[in-house]
Amino acid sequence: TFIVLEGGEGAGKSTQVRQLAIWLREEGFDVVTTREPGATKVGMRLRALLLDKENTGMSPRTEALLYAADRAEHVNAVIRPALERGAIVISDRYVDSTLAYQGAGRALAESDIAGINSWATNELVPDLTVLLDLPADQGLARHGRPADRLESEPAEFHARVRQSFRDLADRDPNRYLVLDAQESQEEVTRAIQRRIRPILPD
Ligand code: C5P
Repeated sequence: TFIVLEGGEGAGKSTQVRQLAIWLREEGFDVVTTREPGATKVGMRLRALLLDKENTGMSPRTEALLYAADRAEHVNAVIRPALERGAIVISDRYVDSTLAYQGAGRALAESDIAGINSWATNELVPDLTVLLDLPADQGLARHGRPADRLESEPAEFHARVRQSFRDLADRDPNRYLVLDAQESQEEVTRAIQRRIRPILPD
């Protein structure tokens, strides 16, 4: 079972990944938590390139390809092996982040981004994607001081990213759970548990 958490910065993805893993382990499951970018050795180097403030102005296509490379490595070295041994994999970000940031954010054609990523992942699609939805300005405020080159993007960039996530969820309601990230952390955790319980393996 492959579960992904998506959303903008400051929406609480990493907290929810942690809570979800604690709960599933208590329930007796083998759980692997992971994140993008940077979950592998190659990925850590790509992450450093991608988030380096000095690289502001990297061409959008270069950025899209580096994210796809990170993801190819992530799927091949971490996600698929874990799924094959029967683990539940929970990833903080996946392909939809790229459709939102590199597609909508950087104004690249969504069909191109989708094609590159379906090749990079060998068409691995999550069983469930949880979108922690939050107005862009609030997420950035929660995040505090700009920490990397993305956070220095204008508000419209983050607004396009948010809208793109919501559109992706609308188009694929069976795969998506959309939650209001302004609810309390406990509320969000409970809502995720309710949605996941029925899809857990025996
Ligand atoms: O998930 P996290 O906040 O650690 O992501 C790190 C940074 O990478 C964020 O600024 C996020 O906006 C950016 N990012 C991106 N494109 C992706 C994934 C993450 O620009 N596909």
